Amino acid sequence: MLEIVKHPDRTLKKRCAAITMVGEEEKEILCRMVKAMYANRGIGLAAPQVGIDKSLAVVDIGDNKVIKLINPAVVERKGEEVMEEGCLSVPDVFVKVKRAKQIKIEFLDENGKKTALEASDLLARAILHEIDHLNGKLIIDHLNPIERFFRLKKK
Ligand SMILES: [Zn+2]
Repeated sequence: MLEIVKHPDRTLKKRCAAITMVGEEEKEILCRMVKAMYANRGIGLAAPQVGIDKSLAVVDIGDNKVIKLINPAVVERKGEEVMEEGCLSVPDVFVKVKRAKQIKIEFLDENGKKTALEASDLLARAILHEIDHLNGKLIIDHLNPIERFFRLKKK
């Protein structure tokens, strides 16, 4: 089972390398990431969260529809909404994050086929959260420096 990497691990801060060729290795990693996501009761997981510096993410907001994303990129955003989010890599911290309410993304599926997807509300939020991870960004990076200091102070 893949282990979840926690803040302040440096892998979480790196912008991930794009996948240039989709092969068996990527399929295998995505499959293991799905297992780790379910085992940890997450609704999404990005490769840096399991220590892998590649642009791969999986999402399942609870409807048992797993979405596997390779090199995801947001091509359209509409509306805004603030909601509290948690993250498996930043345990016990919840942060209000403003995100687009509706998005359109483009990505490669696990067979390397270019795919587009429209998502809204929780699904859009989960996808944007994972794309943040691929860019080395965590929920705590949405806080201003003072808030961040107090929220991360050892209790
Ligand atoms: Zn996260």
